Amino acid sequence: MLSRIAASAVLAVFSFSVHASDLSEAVQQDYDDYLWPLFDHFHRNPELSTIEVDTAARMAQELRNAGFEVTENVGGTGVVAIMKNGDGPMVMMRADMDGLPVEEKSGLENASRKTQESPISGNVVPTMHACGHDVHITSMVGTARHMSARKDAWSGTLMLVVQPAEERVIGAAAMKDDGIWDRFGTPDYALAFHVGSSGVAGVINVTEGSPYAGADTVDIIIHGVGAHGASPHRGNDPIVLGAQIVLALQTLVARELSPRMPGVVTVGSFHSGTKHNIISDRAHLQLTVRNTNGETREILLNGIKRIAENMGRVAGLPDDMLPEVIISTESVPPTNNNPELARRLREAWNTEIGGDRVVDKPPTGMGAEDFPFFTTEPQITSVYWGIGGTLQEDFDREADGGEPVPSHHSPLFRIAPEPSVTAGVESTVVALMELMGT
Ligand SMILES: [Zn+2]
Ligand SMILES: [Zn+2]
Repeated sequence: MLSRIAASAVLAVFSFSVHASDLSEAVQQDYDDYLWPLFDHFHRNPELSTIEVDTAARMAQELRNAGFEVTENVGGTGVVAIMKNGDGPMVMMRADMDGLPVEEKSGLENASRKTQESPISGNVVPTMHACGHDVHITSMVGTARHMSARKDAWSGTLMLVVQPAEERVIGAAAMKDDGIWDRFGTPDYALAFHVGSSGVAGVINVTEGSPYAGADTVDIIIHGVGAHGASPHRGNDPIVLGAQIVLALQTLVARELSPRMPGVVTVGSFHSGTKHNIISDRAHLQLTVRNTNGETREILLNGIKRIAENMGRVAGLPDDMLPEVIISTESVPPTNNNPELARRLREAWNTEIGGDRVVDKPPTGMGAEDFPFFTTEPQITSVYWGIGGTLQEDFDREADGGEPVPSHHSPLFRIAPEPSVTAGVESTVVALMELMGT
């Protein structure tokens, strides 16, 4: 199998200046012969964050078979695969591999029927690749096979990183804490992509800005004075104060951030009380706070503290009973693309893959990613791009009032593996060749 790929890849090397079609033909051939059954296997067998044991073992095997030097159990179930191929830059490519505790209802023939014991709750839960990470790891194997088959066309060190627990945004940090750079070298460039249901399958989306937001988790504990519900004057109601805090927080984004500076303050949970006629003595708010730079982050986090404490004063609480604002230490930095590298890769994709398949569509949401744990401290020049994963006919159906395209993490989520996987391989190979090609 590999020799057949090698033969077609060698052809592609010789005609690299006419390239585009040769590259996509070689990748398509490998998809039909090898990557589709591999994707099918991964899609049927998703594993939860931190316990991606079989997935990691299979990835290690695949990358070893492709000729890489493989180290397992880096930062938990993480896998690092290295191919040293002469002088040149060290380029790291990352693929996350975890599934989610979601019961798949996509109706696909290869829908997951797997269950696993959740490391969080201890309950047995259904698992699903409801974010498309199966596309990422399958593409990585395709990239490994392609780069291995055309070693004479590039020079440098290729580092493939199979990352656990992205969905819990702890996997990249765990690999970093396990000394990934000390053990294997600090890359000159770091790359990653995510497949997305909101893009047309096979289309590459690259921005010079910030494809993913930074995220903070904040808890607000509101202390009150409990009383009978019929005697509110005897207590200090934390539900009323909590409601005022929730509303006052809305002014942070609306009135304190520059309108050209994106930010989010969402109160995702509000818990208090036990019974109709009891005024509680405590309320608990849980927030997610998003930014695209440090300045925004500071304005929002300081503002939350200021509003919560001072609304407590408005409610007449003494200083030692003011609301407590707890900012989690598990903060995720924003994913910021290096503009110069983004432009360079976009040009390469335009030339090698075709301008009609490359877009610059800024994100509409403030989703977060843990990839920047790899690219900050030390700063590594990086680009994170998107690959569309939904067939045009599905968007057309939705536009005609039919079934909507399901979002990520939905039980109905479905990515068209073809051409998402091949676009993942092609875009990665072109990026690697741009950085390491000879
Ligand atoms: Zn996800
Ligand atoms: Zn994801």
